[in-house]
Amino acid sequence: MLPARKTLPVLMILLALAGSTFWLAGRWAPVGGGIFSIWLTWSLIILSGIFCFFWLVLFRQRHLSTLGNIREQLQHFVQTDRIGMIMIEGNDELSSLASEMNQYLTNIKMRFEKQRLERKELLLQSSVAETESRQGRAIIQSISEAVIVTDRFDEILTANQAAQDLLDFQLSPESRQPVNSVIKDQELLQMLEQVRQKKSTNLTRLVQRQHPHTDKMLDLKVLTACVFDDEKEVIGVVMVIHDITTEKEIARMKDDFVSCVTHELKTPLASIRAYAELIAEGEVGPVESQQQFCSIIQEQADRLNRLIDDILNISHIQAGHLELVLEPCALGLIIEQAITTIRPQALEKNIELVTCLPESEINILVDQDLIYQAVLNLLSNAVKYSQRDGKVTVRAWQDNEGRAYLEVEDQGVGIPADEQERIFEKFYRVPQNNSQAEGNGLGLHLVHEIIQSLHKGTITVKSQPGRGSTFTVSLPLCQTREPVLCRS
Ligand code: ADP
Repeated sequence: MLPARKTLPVLMILLALAGSTFWLAGRWAPVGGGIFSIWLTWSLIILSGIFCFFWLVLFRQRHLSTLGNIREQLQHFVQTDRIGMIMIEGNDELSSLASEMNQYLTNIKMRFEKQRLERKELLLQSSVAETESRQGRAIIQSISEAVIVTDRFDEILTANQAAQDLLDFQLSPESRQPVNSVIKDQELLQMLEQVRQKKSTNLTRLVQRQHPHTDKMLDLKVLTACVFDDEKEVIGVVMVIHDITTEKEIARMKDDFVSCVTHELKTPLASIRAYAELIAEGEVGPVESQQQFCSIIQEQADRLNRLIDDILNISHIQAGHLELVLEPCALGLIIEQAITTIRPQALEKNIELVTCLPESEINILVDQDLIYQAVLNLLSNAVKYSQRDGKVTVRAWQDNEGRAYLEVEDQGVGIPADEQERIFEKFYRVPQNNSQAEGNGLGLHLVHEIIQSLHKGTITVKSQPGRGSTFTVSLPLCQTREPVLCRS
């Protein structure tokens, strides 16, 4: 079959052949040739016409079937939402049209595929970015420091709960708010502005602010830094506010502790050194004086020893290194032992020591050495802060709720009401009572630690300046019914 584009020339050649046959027939048939020639000519014309007609019908049939084939394939592509190739047989205009369409479809398909891959890549990147941003936000929310992040338009991108509490604002979840409409602290706003303008990566400032809810004065360390993109353009600012109040307090307490300890160590050491120098230089006269100097040195050495013991005991208790040896003990016996120890001191000032103990023994489950130390400290204070000829009374009793009580009452100088809360602090001494007796301000702190921290007991004080003080300790009773004896 001829290709369609060649049909017209072929038809013309056929007609030309028919015309030349007609001309030849007219020339070579002189007799009767006219009729034959006309007959032949018409036969040829009719034959050519018939041939052309059939040829055209066939040609059209073939075109229609090819077009139908193309339409079917296109409909299939539409239904399956896919781009494929149009497959037709032959070598005519339709097949060349189909091959150009295929070329076009191939281009579309390639472009489509490229876009699909790009879209997939973008989706992946956006999901990674979303996950990272969520993780970042979760991290910011979970940290205890206040964190504020602004974007390139000075709007708040994120701020954690700590920042909202500290600066007393609430972040709207729907839209980003300008930072200066949310934060009212002008100094912090200035810092954000300054760091952005200078494109700085670190601006640190120490500020003091009152907590909006507790009114407590806070020491804050504010760190501000810019966030940059790949072109080194500022795309935001991060502000981290670190509450250093406790750190500062601890540093201050450490300083106080060191200066107190140094002071307490220096005083006895200075007197030991002075008396030792006098003895060494032979400037001490009679033997009695020498003995007196030696006993002063001994006293001061004992004072140093007590101080070091107290510090070590307190630090052991607070570090949790002290191993409690809990055993059933008779409270009365511990009191007796402490009174025996303190009696010489009481006698020096002619202080009467009175005990009021119940007939039946009070058993407590405690670390005997530590409770003895606590009772001794209370008794020692009662004697120390009493005037001559005074009286110190020690009482003990128990209630029906499983608790034992110990009371040490004196008629001494007393403690002013506004000082009573502070007397259990480390190294605290009531200024009004300093002249009454020497001390290091650790005794009651140690008692407090032994009773409250280690034995789940309580200690309270009632006192009136000039009339005396009463310290009351409560401890859990030991439930055993066996008679209990104390180590001596
Ligand atoms: P110190 O070594 O100074 O006695 P403490 O810790 O034992 O240290 O006591 C702290 C402060 O409490 C004392 O400096 C004193 O002013 C006051 N204090 C303690 N016990 C009594 C008491 N029985 N009477 C009056 N004041 C007391």
